[in-house]
Amino acid sequence: MKTLSAESLFGVHACLPTLPPLTPTPPPSIQEDQPPASCHPIPPSSWWIRLCDHPPQPIIPATWNCCCPHCNALLLSTESDAFCCGNGKHVLPKLCPFPSRMQQVLSHATQHRHLSDFSRVVNNLFSFAGIGVSGKFKHFSTRVGSGPPAVAITGRTYHMVRNTEYTDHSIHWFLYDESQREFKAQQFGVHATIVQAISNDLKAVNPYVSHLQHFHDTSRRRRRTLELKDFNAVGDFAAVMHVSNSTIINPRSIIIQCHRQNRPHFVNILSRHYKPLHYVLLFPHADIGWGLDHVPDIPSLMQIQWYRSRLLANDDDRFSIFGRLSAEYVVGNSPSLGRYS
Ligand SMILES: [Zn+2]
Repeated sequence: MKTLSAESLFGVHACLPTLPPLTPTPPPSIQEDQPPASCHPIPPSSWWIRLCDHPPQPIIPATWNCCCPHCNALLLSTESDAFCCGNGKHVLPKLCPFPSRMQQVLSHATQHRHLSDFSRVVNNLFSFAGIGVSGKFKHFSTRVGSGPPAVAITGRTYHMVRNTEYTDHSIHWFLYDESQREFKAQQFGVHATIVQAISNDLKAVNPYVSHLQHFHDTSRRRRRTLELKDFNAVGDFAAVMHVSNSTIINPRSIIIQCHRQNRPHFVNILSRHYKPLHYVLLFPHADIGWGLDHVPDIPSLMQIQWYRSRLLANDDDRFSIFGRLSAEYVVGNSPSLGRYS
């Protein structure tokens, strides 16, 4: 093998100090019985000694191959059954399956993807409740160079139910003007077939829609109030139409009024109606939500246990299918989780 000298590497004009040739130095011999006097004895507790006794375990990636036998939650191979429902202690009643027309939509690949992409928009087209603020919304400019789209709110947020005469809302559309819903859907690019399918399903299975029909039984000019009472043992609830202003209404009931008002009805977040009123696409049958009042056959869970169990059980894969709406559902819950957990 050709040996490169400093002269061949750096040229004849390179001035390098002359170094002595490198000669391998034999390692010092270590006698087990008599360590060298210059070396300190190695203490047996040194970390590198202990590390030799505990070599690192090879990393094995966790896989989604476990299923909880209590709530059917899909679990990682490293998670125990207690992770989702506390070994069956926090299992919620299974949600009602999707109605027939929604199932047809979801069985069609293109419509499935469209409904999944537009889940938040579609839910807003049918939702009975909404979020309002005591102050106002401040929208920032979205022009090029002005930063990412952003909105700020002033005051406090609350959940509300509009009256029937508020024309730009699902309740009014269900009662008097379905064409306005279709017009809004067209504006947002939602397929008309999907809107029609969900509308028909909700009229068939959603109790809020059927109770709204009480408003058709009386004159539109009379002041009336529809009171939605608490859920009963079988997950159903009663709705009572009041035509007198002197009627005493339970403060935790949800009320829908037929006359215009300066402010909407505020929804008590401790009401079990709160979520099914808002997330109609996730709960088309108005399945009972979390609340403080006791309902037989429904486990009394802390709020965080309730949502953990509900999300991980993921009945009919709905929280995955409607992922964008599920994210809103989770974020909407987070402010109150600290207070009631
Ligand atoms: Zn479980």
